[in-house]
Amino acid sequence: MLIAGNWKMYKTATETAEFCRELREALGEVEDVDVAVCPPFTGLAPAVQALADTEIAVAAQNVHWEPDGAYTGEISAPMLVDLGVYGAIVGHSERRQYFGETDEAVGRRAAAALDAGLSVIACVGELEEERERGETEDVLRRQLAPLGAHDNLVVAYEPVWAIGTGKTATPDLAQEAHAFVKSLLDVPVLYGGSVKPENAAELLGQPDVDGALVGGASLEVDSFVAICRAGIR
Ligand code: PEP
Repeated sequence: MLIAGNWKMYKTATETAEFCRELREALGEVEDVDVAVCPPFTGLAPAVQALADTEIAVAAQNVHWEPDGAYTGEISAPMLVDLGVYGAIVGHSERRQYFGETDEAVGRRAAAALDAGLSVIACVGELEEERERGETEDVLRRQLAPLGAHDNLVVAYEPVWAIGTGKTATPDLAQEAHAFVKSLLDVPVLYGGSVKPENAAELLGQPDVDGALVGGASLEVDSFVAICRAGIR
């Protein structure tokens, strides 16, 4: 069970350090639940420092496919490894939607990160209109195609219509999509999309839901800790 908090473009480096200090105090023992926070790039070093000697991992929200080069504004996997970062998200729907991220680029980012020794959370998920047109499985098949199974790869199924909208997938719908993802790629699958303390236990209780990628509710210590606790089986 993995609960990862995607902070998106929230929290300065100073706020990150403060949050991480509060989180380590508040979380306590969460047996069998791995916990990760994914601050913006500027918060990675302070988060690693504030969470040193804890079990809480720090991951980035993106990573480039080249180790270095003329790619202004990008950050590479070796740069993350050097900071003590454990992994990276790739292919978040906000990157696909606002920054033209393609399936092929997501595959390259994932492969480079895995080769460098990072863990990867690769996000997939359909738009509302794609679900309405009955295309969910085609979309997932296309998005998963550039990814190969790897011990350090986790997929996050995040239906785009449920991200930041308060519209959560029903546990049955999440279970169905997760089982389909696993039929294509044998890796753990996290659910993402408006996970809150109130709905976490039911979602995490589904047999093929192996954790959660949490956006909005990961920005407050109390709600994030409540979701982490909901993952204890
Ligand atoms: C996310 O950012 O991956 C996410 C699922 O956001 P939220 O929990 O706010 O819907």
